[in-house]
Amino acid sequence: MPAKPKFYLTTPIYYTNGLPHIGHTYTTVVADVIRRYKRMRGYQVVMTTGTDEHGVNVERAAKNAGVPESEFVAKMADAWRALWEELGLSAEEFVRTTDLRHVRTVQWLFKLCRENGYVYKGHYTGQYCIYDNAFVNDAKPGDNCPDCGRPTETLTEENYFFKLSAFQKPLLDFYKKNPDFIQPESRKNEIVSFVEGGLKDLSITRTTVRWGIPVPGEEPHVFYVWFDALTAYLSAVGGPDYEKRGMWPADLHLVGKDIIRFHTVYWPAFLMAAMLPVPKQVWAHGWFLMDASKMSKSKGNVVLPRPIANMLGMDALRYFLLREVAFGQDGNFSYDALVTRYNSDLANGLGNLASRTAAMIEKTFAGKIPKAGKLEAADEALARETQAGIGEVLDYFEKMNFARALESLWTVIAAADKYLTTQKPWSLGDSEADMQRKANILATTAELLRIVTVLAHPVLPDSTAKIWTLLGQPGSVCAVELDGLRWGQLTTGAPLGKPQTLFPRVEKSEAIERIESMANEELNPSTAPAPAPATATSAGSGAAAAPAASEKIGIEDFAKVEMRVGQIKTAERIVGADKLLKLTVDIGTEIRQICAGIAQFYEPDSLIGRKVAVVTNLAPRKLRGVVSNGMIIAASVGPEGRPVLAGFPEDVEIGARLK
Ligand SMILES: [Zn+2]
Repeated sequence: MPAKPKFYLTTPIYYTNGLPHIGHTYTTVVADVIRRYKRMRGYQVVMTTGTDEHGVNVERAAKNAGVPESEFVAKMADAWRALWEELGLSAEEFVRTTDLRHVRTVQWLFKLCRENGYVYKGHYTGQYCIYDNAFVNDAKPGDNCPDCGRPTETLTEENYFFKLSAFQKPLLDFYKKNPDFIQPESRKNEIVSFVEGGLKDLSITRTTVRWGIPVPGEEPHVFYVWFDALTAYLSAVGGPDYEKRGMWPADLHLVGKDIIRFHTVYWPAFLMAAMLPVPKQVWAHGWFLMDASKMSKSKGNVVLPRPIANMLGMDALRYFLLREVAFGQDGNFSYDALVTRYNSDLANGLGNLASRTAAMIEKTFAGKIPKAGKLEAADEALARETQAGIGEVLDYFEKMNFARALESLWTVIAAADKYLTTQKPWSLGDSEADMQRKANILATTAELLRIVTVLAHPVLPDSTAKIWTLLGQPGSVCAVELDGLRWGQLTTGAPLGKPQTLFPRVEKSEAIERIESMANEELNPSTAPAPAPATATSAGSGAAAAPAASEKIGIEDFAKVEMRVGQIKTAERIVGADKLLKLTVDIGTEIRQICAGIAQFYEPDSLIGRKVAVVTNLAPRKLRGVVSNGMIIAASVGPEGRPVLAGFPEDVEIGARLK
């Protein structure tokens, strides 16, 4: 078997003075979609992401946190890595600019550029803030520092310069020979005219910054921003030994439109100077705007990925990000649009088609997909439309036009809905002819659903895996080869998998309120109640609520806790919180809403009417965005901390105080 072709793609390495919001998530989601898509097309894929950990801003943030820089960046890198993992977006390579492999690569690249005559020592003059120990970019004499407001001073320091001016012609030639290097097209024109306007040499070291990679033998020089950060893409796949790994050059750098110049001018110039292979393509995407302005923490309009993933599932967020805006352009982010798309396209669209198809097969053919006989014109028309859809969707994926790919795919889903509505399998009887007709209709629908599932997999990895299992198809959906995908490959006769909840419908205003509430808890951890670790405290179990077991308290401390007998009136599951049940509890004087982390061990219906012990004077708090006004007492049993509710006999009065 011939070796698979390689595909190497990167997200930017993200700056570690803050944590990821939806903008970073967008780039990383797109990278992950492309990675899954390329794999299904037979490529061996490596994706790199990482953290940019040097520079004055990190120095300052570490100082504010009162910890050494190395400790600060290690914590930040861990937090970024953990969030990507939680969201199912872990890359093959996570590169940190403080990694030794990266330090060696930057120093090696500098040595090559210098040996080839593209580096010289010069002087840099700029406006400098003594307080922040930093040059203020683009400031003129007399300007104040934008960070602290103090006056800046004109300062000259010795720097190493990169001869960027020597690369005007080589870069313009390169763009001409590689017309797909800069995408989308509109950005390309912008870059070409920038380079045509002439290039100034670039200062690539600093002596006034301390937290950076040292220039060997030239201390106190450290590498400055781009020479350090961009090189991380190469460090991640072997650095000086890149040939052994076989992944360089990158096939695709995904970047935000604000950093395209550095990726399409500086980066290829550094590599050309070192006589190393240049990346094949740089793709710049637009911004998600919140109320038409760019998101930033200071504006307080940051959208966080975790609350959305908790409420609607990560697949819903992925779908929205790719479907809502043409890749490359700016788009508006709104929770309203997110939840609307979720309900219409996922709950009512794909989710509904999958569950009703499975339910009909279950009912009519004992849970086994029937074999189709001779197809009628309507069946054949649907087959043709689906087959044509395969080509269309793959073509759009290839052009990175994800919005159109999904639009085409959802046209196929709509065609299936229409087909079922006109063919009405539920209105047919039990005669041999009717049964054969029903078999044809359901086999045709199941085959369409199989194809949609495969094509949607790069965007909706979790839910398509569930649908694949539901359809009883062999192997994993991610292992299906897109190049061989065509109508007529459905496995029939195998039993369907267990029914799955795919995209439960949500009530819009409630969903938005809960997402915002969870985001608020995450952004302001100091004002919000402590997050509930696992089931323990959210279960309100006595064991978790107690301080250290050995610590004794006086009777007056115990007397502060008010506990009463309550009776559960209603109990329901909470969308987006697998472990929680939302209860209403009668405590004698009033009915309270209380959340309890017992959903994995108690069926909601079994709890109605049950008497429980309730802590009634606990300050209300929100769990997964739902208000909980009180706590139900439960024992924590066994190593997994299974909650067992404390209870009372029938004749104990509701509202009775526990002492
Ligand atoms: Zn300052």
